[in-house]
Amino acid sequence: GLQLTNIQKRFKRRDVLAGVDFFVRQGEIHALVGTSGSGKSTLLRIIAGLETPDVGNVTWNGAALLGVPAHERKITLLSQTPLLFPHLTVGENVLLAIPERSREQAEHWLARVRLAGRYDDEVHTLSGGEGQRASFARALAADPRLILLDEPFTNLDPDLKYELQQLIREVVGELGLTALLVTHDREEAMLVADRVTLLDGGTVHATGTPRELSETEPTFGDFIEFEGEM
Ligand code: ATP
Ligand code: MG
Repeated sequence: GLQLTNIQKRFKRRDVLAGVDFFVRQGEIHALVGTSGSGKSTLLRIIAGLETPDVGNVTWNGAALLGVPAHERKITLLSQTPLLFPHLTVGENVLLAIPERSREQAEHWLARVRLAGRYDDEVHTLSGGEGQRASFARALAADPRLILLDEPFTNLDPDLKYELQQLIREVVGELGLTALLVTHDREEAMLVADRVTLLDGGTVHATGTPRELSETEPTFGDFIEFEGEM
């Protein structure tokens, strides 16, 4: 799994991350919850190798990730505002992430996110939710061991949000991926994740399963009713 140890990052003399420790188990969907500006995206960028921490360590199954170039980490980041290249078709956008540049594989990933038959379509013909699914397909096509999802459900209507949440659970389970999902929505974290970490004031406030947190965190108990065994 992914281990973060004492991650510190300071911007303009402000400690954004002030010693963050947590562990993401291999194969789980782990949600990282925190208010706006709490450093969630910064943390994902550090894990992806797009930013360097001032202090701290990041390892995958015990092997150091810091110092490993981003493209060699087998980690993909689906950023808060996913970008598709507008001058390429939908399928070509996915194709770019595949080392062997196989059209068949790109079509496979598009079908996986329920965009079968859209390979040759222009990017601007996609709806917002379809664009998000195409970006998800591109992230999967890169064959990562860890996928980082930065608020992938914002600006989606409730039905689409639910559909994409189910899709992520389904695909992560099937492919044996590990996912770290950033959200400021506690309810969403409880619904989608196997375990949740709460980030507050630059450090980890709590980590646990949704059930555990519903017992220890008053604001988590409010909206979750567990049905049967999870
Ligand atoms: P949101 O939920 O709004 O996306 P976040 O938790 O993802 O917020 P970050 O984007 O990680 O927050 O930013 C944390 C803080 O660090 C913010 O105050 C932001 O302004 C600051 N910050 C992030 N990147 C930089 C940078 N490159 N230079 C200066 N300040 C930065
Ligand atoms: Mg952010």
